[in-house]
Amino acid sequence: MGQEEKVCKVPELPEIWELLQRAGLSEDALKNELGEGDQAYADALYLLTRMRFAVEDSRCYWSEVLLHMEGLNLALGRDVGLRVAMCDYFMNLHPLMRDPVIVEVQVLLQKERGALVDELTELYNRRYFNDAIQREVERFKRFAQRFSLVMLDVDHFKRFNDTYGHLVGDDALKNVANALRETARTFDHVVRYGGEEFALILPHTDADQATAAAERLRQAVENHPVMVEGKPVRLTVSLGVATFPEDAINARDLIARADEALYEAKLNRNRVCSYTEKNRQYPRAPLGLTMLFDSPGNERVTVRVLNISFGGMLCQSPAAILPGTLVEAVLGDHPGAPERRLRCRVVRLEREDEGGPYEIALIFDGIDDEVRRALVRLVELDQGMGS
Ligand code: GH3
Ligand code: MG
Ligand code: MG
Repeated sequence: MGQEEKVCKVPELPEIWELLQRAGLSEDALKNELGEGDQAYADALYLLTRMRFAVEDSRCYWSEVLLHMEGLNLALGRDVGLRVAMCDYFMNLHPLMRDPVIVEVQVLLQKERGALVDELTELYNRRYFNDAIQREVERFKRFAQRFSLVMLDVDHFKRFNDTYGHLVGDDALKNVANALRETARTFDHVVRYGGEEFALILPHTDADQATAAAERLRQAVENHPVMVEGKPVRLTVSLGVATFPEDAINARDLIARADEALYEAKLNRNRVCSYTEKNRQYPRAPLGLTMLFDSPGNERVTVRVLNISFGGMLCQSPAAILPGTLVEAVLGDHPGAPERRLRCRVVRLEREDEGGPYEIALIFDGIDDEVRRALVRLVELDQGMGS
């Protein structure tokens, strides 16, 4: 801003606070909107101009605007007020505003809020979500405060719409939104992520607390039936949970992890799946054995299993199997044992070099204790510990 050489006589923050109050801003608004320390100079400018400045520049602007206000007051023989002085400063002295609009602050706030709120459910929308999750990542960087993300999808909602119609479907979404809003804490961010998908950002929440919160949300929806022609109809949701920074290094990654957990929850529906929990509970065992893959419409493939857990496995395959494909893994856990088949879904397909083998990640589709025991035996056998 070319003021580096100038010496700014920067006003103290209480002076600015008082001027803002005199200009009609409420104490509540100031408490909510002005950040800590010198950040308040930049936030206070934003409140009046909706322009974002660096903190150091903001301090100088405040000094110059107040000087300008004094000059205007003297020249006109009356108090022109902070807004008029600021407007004249940013239009005529330091023209960063070319075409400002005069609007009542309540009207502006309502419009700004409207741009961030979903019309149907009155929850925050995706645009708000993108900012809010980034703000939490920043908060972690500054204060090492972890947070969690819950992604939530209504189960069999297409069927619900087909049965009762879209208008009742809309009511059902409002109903889910209300259950989420009532169950969330006041400082959680509850968002309609899109369609029948919702997201909650839980500040200050570790993986275990987030899983417990997600379970409460699941139950709340289950216990809030939608009334259709006077009769209660039950809807359920599946939820995926991931925690920052345990599960991800940035916001994008965190969303992907929570989505992965949601995908897993969807295998049974009406349940919570935590990405962190899965990783903790299912440490991967390295394996070197081979296994047969059977999938309808495809030739049988023999794959090499690189590692396996109760959640899924990673394999090397000579043939590509596309993500989303259902395959049956044929387990022969010990010689002479009956053939056991385990349903899996391909979630990732990668190949390092052209011509080389494919790496395929699969998750198991609903395993029970019987299969878990078979897997434990398989791993023991492979590691030479089996009996
Ligand atoms: P799943 O349990 O696997 O999630 O099954 P599903 O049927 O919920 O999943 P799918 O993604 O196939 O269907 C989502 C449906 O949600 C389809 C779409 O018509 C409906 N939907 C999305 N947004 C709205 C909305 O605003 N209002 C209504 N009534 N329906 C919506
Ligand atoms: Mg969906
Ligand atoms: Mg759905």
